[in-house]
Formats: sequence, structure tokens, C-alpha cells
Amino acid sequence: NAPVITIDGPSGSGKGTIAKLVADRLGYVLLDSGALYRLTALAALNAEVDLADEGRVAEIAANLNIRFAIADGEVSAVLDGKDVSRDIRMERVSMAASKVAALPAVREALLQRQRDFRELPGLVADGRDMGTTVFPDAPVKVFLTASAEERARRRFAQLQGRGVSVSLRDLLEDIRARDDRDMNRAASPLAPADDAVVLDSTDIAIDDVLQKVLELVQN
Ligand code: C5P
Repeated sequence: NAPVITIDGPSGSGKGTIAKLVADRLGYVLLDSGALYRLTALAALNAEVDLADEGRVAEIAANLNIRFAIADGEVSAVLDGKDVSRDIRMERVSMAASKVAALPAVREALLQRQRDFRELPGLVADGRDMGTTVFPDAPVKVFLTASAEERARRRFAQLQGRGVSVSLRDLLEDIRARDDRDMNRAASPLAPADDAVVLDSTDIAIDDVLQKVLELVQN
């Protein structure tokens, strides 16, 4: 069985960045599980399916026609032959993703697809329930957090850098709404696995977080 490093945590904690750096450093495969929920949400929005219709959204999740392509070190998400990497990062899709992720049948439909990413020499899995539900036997589990204010500031800086104008207050509200939904849902609520190492990145630079994770892998 290939080794798995799970990196879970709330949106904006920096886990995506860390997961990518760790995978690059170790030459491991990377699973961005949030992208699967985002792709499901986008496909449901495109098909004008009611996001609360669990059966139909789960059917969409089970039949997603997707692939991840790598060009210039960047991963792009392709849905039905179209590059939707930018579309799935839109605020509207983020919100929809957190709604469809609350549906147990959707989580079930995506479970095996996520496990199929496990291959040699190893996998870095980024998400909410990688350590608790999808890869409970992973030898290294990290739970990365940061305060909601700090996460909103990071997202704000990121969007500003791309020339997108948003208000910090709206972003903070969105982050709180998503946290609330992720933590209070019945199916795989966001929480660290019992054997996860919890790291708070509020006041630590990304490089230092990376060093800590690599130390965990070596021990
Ligand atoms: O990590 P990201 O923000 O891209 O995830 C999008 C949404 O998908 C999250 O708001 C969360 O509700 C959901 N998600 C999940 N389980 C995962 C990954 C993401 O429920 N393993």
C-alpha cells in the first residue's frame, strides 16, 4: 500500500499550498479533494439541478467526466473536455461546493474516486476528511488551521493580486458560513483525526509550516 500524507483543515488555512509543496518535494501524487466537490457543484449548476436534490447531485458526482492535466507545474481541472480551473474557484461555486459536500450520497459517490489516487511512490491528500474518512490508515496526518480573520486576509490579498475587487468583510462572512457548514454537517464534519498533528499557521510563514510537515514525514 502506497504511503499517504493527509492534510486537512478549513478553507484558506494554506493546506492547498502546503500539500502542493510537499508533493513536489517528495515526488508524490497530489489529490485536491476539494476540486472534486467543486467540479460536482459546477456540473450541477450547469445542469440547473437543485443543489438540495441529493439523488440527482449524487448521480452527477458518480458520473463526472473529469481529468486533471498538468502543464508548467500547474494542475488544471478539465470537465467534459473543457478547462474549468478558473470557474471552479469562483465564489459562487465555492458556496455551492460546500452545499453539495453536506450531502451524504455525494460524499459516498466520491469516496472510491478519491482512494483511486493512492499510488506509488505516495500520495498527498488535501481536504477536510482525508485523515478521518478517506484514508484513515494514513501514516502521517496533518490538520492545518488559522484564524478566520487571517484566512480572509490571505484570500483578500490573493484576489487583489489578480485584480478582483472584493470586500474583506464579505470574504470573512463567506469563510464563516463555509466553516459553519463544514463543521456542523452530519456527514464527515470537519475535525482533526485523533492521530493528526494540529498546526496553526496564523502566525507562521508557509516555509516553516512546510518544514514541520517534512519533519513529520521523516520521523
Ligand atoms: O478545499 P476547498 O475549499 O477547495 O473545498 C471546497 C468545498 O468542498 C469545501 O467548502 C468543503 O465543504 C468541501 N470539501 C469537503 N471534503 C473534502 C474537501 C472539500 O467536504 N475532503
